Amino acid sequence: MHELSLAQNIIDSVREHVGDDRLPKVTEVVMEVGTASGVVGESLQFAYEAIVQGTPLASSVMTMHSVPFTVTCHACGTESESPAGYMVCPNCDSMDVSVVKGAEMILKQIVLNDD
Ligand SMILES: [Zn+2]
Repeated sequence: MHELSLAQNIIDSVREHVGDDRLPKVTEVVMEVGTASGVVGESLQFAYEAIVQGTPLASSVMTMHSVPFTVTCHACGTESESPAGYMVCPNCDSMDVSVVKGAEMILKQIVLNDD
């Protein structure tokens, strides 16, 4: 149950950012999930919904944006998406590449209903 602990971490971060007294005002938690992060989006969403039940975050939803795994090549200078998550440049097959994005999950935005 990897996603359960991930969801719990996200909730802890949300709490840190907005503070306990404002938790009921959270309407949406926006995540960016890299295609090579190993996170199963549906499972994470399911875990989140299960954990927030009966808590001040019960009325919030989690939305996710997929971020394509992208590498930059030091041999040919090309930045390209590598859908399979390989550390190889699709342009010149060099393995001298660095990850630009798409290898992690990021808490992108917390939407509050401040009326
Ligand atoms: Zn290259």
